[in-house]
Amino acid sequence: MNIQQELLSVLKDYPDFPKAGIIFKDICPMLSNPAVFKRVMRHMAEHAADCKATHIIGMESRGFLFGMPLAAELGLPFIPARKAGKLPGEVLKQSYTLEYGIDHVEIQKSSVHADGRYLIVDDVIATGGTAAAVAQLVQTGGGTVAGFSFVIELSFLNGRRQLQDLSPKAGVYSLLTL
Ligand code: AMP
Repeated sequence: MNIQQELLSVLKDYPDFPKAGIIFKDICPMLSNPAVFKRVMRHMAEHAADCKATHIIGMESRGFLFGMPLAAELGLPFIPARKAGKLPGEVLKQSYTLEYGIDHVEIQKSSVHADGRYLIVDDVIATGGTAAAVAQLVQTGGGTVAGFSFVIELSFLNGRRQLQDLSPKAGVYSLLTL
């Protein structure tokens, strides 16, 4: 089985969660399957190395589940992008539109450096709003977006377009395109 078939065999759909019209992709069965999770991380690590990333940014909260092991595997610093009001010290803040709502995301200002290449990681790209907001934070802080990495891309929402418009030199990688 290739990795895409393997992912399809473990992911579970929850229609109308968290609200009507959304088909929620549940990654929990993947997290509880160490063989599949390891394979996913290996693919993500190969891509991250190709991007020549110097830092990994994971989005709260499911982006942490992939971004943190990726950073540890590659020996790179991990930066959490968090919901508003969670991070201490000086922060950069950006609002964004979700597939199901509006929110704000923050990173610590001191974590972005002019010579840094930041790989932005999350479990799912839907509208691309969350990842775009994080990319804006990196760019506002003076850093470079090295790329975007997702396990699942909901391609019918065309989120990658927004990311490509915002950071034309950064590749958008997803392991499973639906
Ligand atoms: P977006 O900003 O629209 O690309 O949404 C991405 C964020 O929302 C990610 O952090 C995902 O974890 C979550 N998300 C959005 N849509 C779904 C979905 N259909 N199934 C699972 N997670 C989703």
